[in-house]
Amino acid sequence: MPRIQKLPEALVRQIAAGEVVERPASVVKELIENALDAGARRIDVRIEGGGARLVSVRDDGCGIGSEDAALAFERHATSKISSPEDLQKIRSLGFRGEALPSIASVARVRLLSTPRGESEGVEAVLEGGTAPAVRPAAARPGTEVEVRDLFFNTPARKKFLRTPQTEARRIAAAVSRLALAHPGVHVTLRSERKTMLDCPPVETLKERMVQVLGRDLAAGLVPLKAREGLLAVEGFATPPQSPLPNRDTLHFFVNRRPVQDRLLTGALLRAYPNLPARSYPGAVLFLEAPTEAVDVNVHPTKAEVRFRDSSAVFRLIELAVGEALGPRAVFSRKSPTHAPVQAPDRTASTASPVQRPASSSIRERAAPDSMTSRPQDPVELAAAPEKFLAEAPPRLVGGTEFPEPLAQYAGTYIVAQDDEGLLLFDQHAAHERVLYESLHASFEARRMERQALLFPLVLELSAEQAASLEDSALATLAALGFEAEAFGAATVRIRAVPSLLGEANADALVRDVVFALADDPALRSSSASEGGKEPNTDRLIATMACRAAVTKNMTLSMPKMREILAGLYQTKNPATCPHGRPTLLRYPLAEIERGFGRR
Ligand code: ADP
Ligand code: MG
Repeated sequence: MPRIQKLPEALVRQIAAGEVVERPASVVKELIENALDAGARRIDVRIEGGGARLVSVRDDGCGIGSEDAALAFERHATSKISSPEDLQKIRSLGFRGEALPSIASVARVRLLSTPRGESEGVEAVLEGGTAPAVRPAAARPGTEVEVRDLFFNTPARKKFLRTPQTEARRIAAAVSRLALAHPGVHVTLRSERKTMLDCPPVETLKERMVQVLGRDLAAGLVPLKAREGLLAVEGFATPPQSPLPNRDTLHFFVNRRPVQDRLLTGALLRAYPNLPARSYPGAVLFLEAPTEAVDVNVHPTKAEVRFRDSSAVFRLIELAVGEALGPRAVFSRKSPTHAPVQAPDRTASTASPVQRPASSSIRERAAPDSMTSRPQDPVELAAAPEKFLAEAPPRLVGGTEFPEPLAQYAGTYIVAQDDEGLLLFDQHAAHERVLYESLHASFEARRMERQALLFPLVLELSAEQAASLEDSALATLAALGFEAEAFGAATVRIRAVPSLLGEANADALVRDVVFALADDPALRSSSASEGGKEPNTDRLIATMACRAAVTKNMTLSMPKMREILAGLYQTKNPATCPHGRPTLLRYPLAEIERGFGRR
C-alpha cells in the first residue's frame, strides 16, 4: 500500500490551474474580465498561434500598485471581496483570486502596470509558478498581461489543444461574448497580423450586436423585454422562421456575466417548438437579478450560476421570448389546458395531445363534415402518401421522354399524367433534384461555370465566422463556382456565382453557402491538422440547389414546367429531392375510377 503524502505546492497549483485554464480562450476570458473589473474603457487583445504561443491583453483600467504586483499572483488573493457577506453581493466578474496564479503556473507571464495618476509603473515576470520577479518600469497607464507558451510545462494538457484556427475561433467567441455585455468599452482582437474584431464604443446593445455578430445576423433579431418583481430580462432573439445552423449565437448573461445555463436555454427553446433538424435559435439575453438571488460561486470558471428561484427565472424568460415572437410560437408547446378553446370534435377526443393541435388545425380549414367524412377525403390522402409514392422512373404515355405538364396546381405542383395515372410533381423538390445533379456533375468535372455579378455582394460576418473562413474555405467556394475574396476583417466580397444558379437569388444563396462553410468545420477543406478529410461538398451543393430552385407559391409558365420535368427525367434519382423528400406522387387511374364508382 503506497503511503499517503501531501502533494508538492507546484503540483497543487497545476491541478488547480486546470480548473480555470482549460485552453487559450480561458486565459483571454479571465484577463478581459480583470480589465473590465478594473474599469477599462479600452481593451486590446493580441494572440499568436491561436493563443498558445501568445495571449496579450492590454487595458486602460485602474492599474495595480507596485506593492500589489506580487500579491496579485498569490492564490486566493483578490481586491474584490474581503468578507463572507461580500459573496452575497458580487458585482465584479472576478472574486476568487485564482486566475492570475493559475495562468502563471502553466505559462510564462509578464505583467506591466501603472496605477492611474502614478509616475512610475511596475513589471512582474514569472513562469511555471515561480515567485514573481518584480521591478519598477516606465509609466504607462493601465495594465498589460502577456502570457506566452501556454501549457509549456504540462504537455498532457498541451496535447488537447486543437489547431490554431480552432483555438482562435474560441478566443473570438469569448471576446465577442464579453464585448456584447459592454457596448461602451472599445474592444479589439488581433490574431497574428489580422484584426478579427474591432468594436469602438457604442451606446446600444443593438449597435454592439452589429459589430460583433455582423450586420446580417443582427438585423434579423427581434427585441424582447420583460420584468417581474425584482427580475428583469432584456435582449434579442431570432424569429422562429429564420433559425441558425448551430448553437454559437446563444448568449446569456446574468448581471452582465456571460453564463452557460441549461435553465435559460430551456426556457428560450420553449418558444421554438417546431424548429427543423440542425436548426437552432439565436439570442442575446441579459437577465438582471438581485445579487443575493444568484449564486455565482458554483464553478472556478464562473460560467455557471444558481438561481434562488429558478422557476421564476424560467417563467420570465419564457414570457419575454413568447411575447416578442408572437403568442402563437408559445401556444403549440403549452399543455392542452392552455390551448385555445376548440369546438368539440370527434378526432380530438381520441387523439393524443400531440396529435390534437395538428388534426384540429387541419379541420379548421377543411370543408363541412359531410365532405370530410367521405372515404377519399383529402386529409386521408395526405395521411397516407406512401400509397401514392411513385416508383422511379415512372412509365410514360406513348414513349415520350418525359410527361407533358398539363397545368400548375395550387401554385406549387405540376400536374401531368403517365400511363398508370395522374402525376403531381412538387415543383421545388423536382427543380432542386435537377439543379443538384447538374451542379454535382460540373463540380466533379471541375467545370463549374461562373457568372460575374453586376454588383459584387458584400457579406459581413461575425468575428467567429470570419476566423473560420480560412483560405481553405475560400478555395472550396472557388471550386463551387463562387469568386470570393476576404476583404477587411470580417467581410467577404463575392464577385461571381455559378452560372447555373443565375443572379436572381444570389444574395440569399451566397449567404447560405458562406454561413454554412463558416459554421461547420466538416464543410471546410482538408487542412491535414483537422483530420485531412475532403470537405463535405454534397451538403453545400444541396444548399445551392435548394436556394436556386423555384419555390412553392410561384407561378410557372408552361415552358418552365416543361424544362423542369424534362430535366427531372434525365436525373439519376428522379423520385426524390436531395433531402430525400418525394418529387412526385402518382394517383393510379384504378383508384380514381373506384372513387367515381366506375368499378
Ligand atoms: P480576481 O479577479 O478573482 O480577483 P485574479 O487572479 O484574476 O483574481 O486577479 C487578482 C487581482 O489582481 C485582482 O483582484 C486585481 O486586484 C488585480 N488585477 C488583475 N488584473 C488586473 C487589471 N487588468 N487591472 C487592475 N488590477 C488587476
Ligand atoms: Mg480575475
